[in-house]
Amino acid sequence: LWRRCLGRLEGELSAEDLHTWLMPLQAREDETGLALFAPNSYTLETVRARYLPQISTLLAQLAGRDLPVRLDVGSSTPHNPAKPAIKPAASGAIESIQAQTPAFNHNLDPHYTFETFVEGKSNQLGKAAAMQVAQNPGRAYNPLLLYGGTGLGKTHLMHAAGNLMRQNNPNCKVLYLRSEQFVGAMIEALRTKSMDQFKLRFRSVDALLIDDIQFFAGKDTTQEEFFHTFNALFESKQQIILTCDRYPKEVDKLEPRLKSRLGWGLSVAIEPPDFETRAAILLSKAHDKGVAVDEHVAMLLAKRIRSNVRDLEGALNTLAARANFYGKPITTDFAEETLRDLLATHAQAVTVPNIQKVVAEYFNIRLQDLLSTRRVRSLARPRQIAMALSKELTDHSLPEIGDAFGGRDHTTVLHACRTIKKLCEGDPRMRQDWEQLIRILTG
Ligand code: ADP
Ligand code: MG
Repeated sequence: LWRRCLGRLEGELSAEDLHTWLMPLQAREDETGLALFAPNSYTLETVRARYLPQISTLLAQLAGRDLPVRLDVGSSTPHNPAKPAIKPAASGAIESIQAQTPAFNHNLDPHYTFETFVEGKSNQLGKAAAMQVAQNPGRAYNPLLLYGGTGLGKTHLMHAAGNLMRQNNPNCKVLYLRSEQFVGAMIEALRTKSMDQFKLRFRSVDALLIDDIQFFAGKDTTQEEFFHTFNALFESKQQIILTCDRYPKEVDKLEPRLKSRLGWGLSVAIEPPDFETRAAILLSKAHDKGVAVDEHVAMLLAKRIRSNVRDLEGALNTLAARANFYGKPITTDFAEETLRDLLATHAQAVTVPNIQKVVAEYFNIRLQDLLSTRRVRSLARPRQIAMALSKELTDHSLPEIGDAFGGRDHTTVLHACRTIKKLCEGDPRMRQDWEQLIRILTG
């Protein structure tokens, strides 16, 4: 009966309206009448407001009697929500409409799954939250916000949640967008005066995933529109997942009311992975890419590249490409050699306290003596070396370095730099010490 009703409506409504609002409905007929199930409450309300009278009239005509129509959110087949109640092949008319309508584009990357995500202390909570949300969209935490530095796996987790939702329910409409794409779509809609369609597109999904919302900062119209979208989705329990490169409260020029909304759900920080997790991620990526890398190489890279996972992966890709090109196995020597420049840029920044500690150890004196005002030669020379190294290896100014060495005058520091330079030129042993210290400090 519902199929025949749709066939009639096809002649009366535009294909787009029909597809957007009526095709997603599932029907169940029993003695009491006809129940129509909408995928979400936004669809339900629209159908009720715009089409219900027309539908009731048509159904009564077709049935030859008054037929009560009920509207509900959910599925006509509760035991298997994935199975559509309307078999598309059953009606030529409907089939042709479906053929014309482009498939819903989720923008999900199928490679980013929970299976390929390596868990560690730094991302455990984020992963657990994303999984719970995916298992129970709209009901576990809404919105779910993942925040943290770049390259730490936020986007990966977001796609993983979307992919799992689709795996659990292939009919689930998940829409992933980078925030720039949301801005772009909105600007385009304003330009072509199609804001209604824009609104509809975002509000008719089951889950909306927006990546890197820090890009909304300062874009007031976008924030306004996003705010309304957010509210509409939130109210009808459609899932919202967001990421941000820092805690949103710290993003300037993000509207306070939007920030406060973000706090309604769950916000989880994704931290940089520790050494073991970095090594595990590297081995897992190598395995996925079919690159033969042993633990020693994984440990070398994990030890030296601490910034983020993306850099780690980049190093692995470089290594794989070079090894392939030269036809060589990836040994630690090969890795050191190939990635020398890259590893150098990842060397930990040298700090003044670090220099003081290393110099004290090197000359076998106590740190407090190095920093004291005692002028005995055995302390004065190492102290000068430490000052000169500070000038050489850090970006601190002479007065700053003077301060760090017990509040000495900047001229003292300058004098130390000149003395050491001269000594290095004339005294091979001095030169050796100097170079050795630089090697120790810069790895
Ligand atoms: P973000 O969105 O936080 O900037 P991404 O999700 O884009 O970071 O992650 C960068 C790269 O690192 C991706 O290729 C991703 O697969 C990978 N990655 C990050 N964390 C993990 C992890 N825990 N396990 C496996 N891969 C990871
Ligand atoms: Mg990202």
